Amino acid sequence: MNDDLSDLYQEVLLDHNRRPRNRRRLAAPTAVADGDNPLCGDRVHLELVLAPDGTIVEAAFDGDGCAISIASASLLTEAVTGKTQAEARQLFAAVRAMLTGEGPGEPAPGKLAALGGVREYPMRVKCATLAWHTLLEALGAAAAGGR
Ligand code: ZN
Repeated sequence: MNDDLSDLYQEVLLDHNRRPRNRRRLAAPTAVADGDNPLCGDRVHLELVLAPDGTIVEAAFDGDGCAISIASASLLTEAVTGKTQAEARQLFAAVRAMLTGEGPGEPAPGKLAALGGVREYPMRVKCATLAWHTLLEALGAAAAGGR
C-alpha cells in the first residue's frame, strides 16, 4: 500500500491480510454486528455462534477495508473462538490498552501482540480496533436480547 509497509505490518499482519481466517458467513449466527470506520472506509460484519452458557463457539467476519482492519478482524475471530464472553472482553481490553497506550503497556496475548505495531500510527488505531468494537456490540446485543 505504501512505503511504510515493512515497518507497519509485521509478518503476522501480512499473513492474516493475505489469507484472512474465518472470512465467511455462518449458517446460523446467534449474534451479529456491523461496524464501520469512516476515517478509512473500513467496514466489518461480524457473526458469532454463542453457546447457551455464552461461550463463543464460532466467529466469522466479512467486510472490506484496509490491510490492518482485515488482519485485525481475522486475528480476532481466531482469538475469541472457544472463549467465554468475559475472556473475550478481557482480550478487547488488552488490545485496546496496547493500541491506545493506556493501561500497563503490556502486549496483548498471543498473536494479538502483532497489532501493537499499529500504535505507532495513530491514524490507523481505529482500523485495528474496529473489529473489536464490533465484537463488543455483538456481545452486548446478545446479552440484551437484541438492541
Ligand atoms: Zn483502515
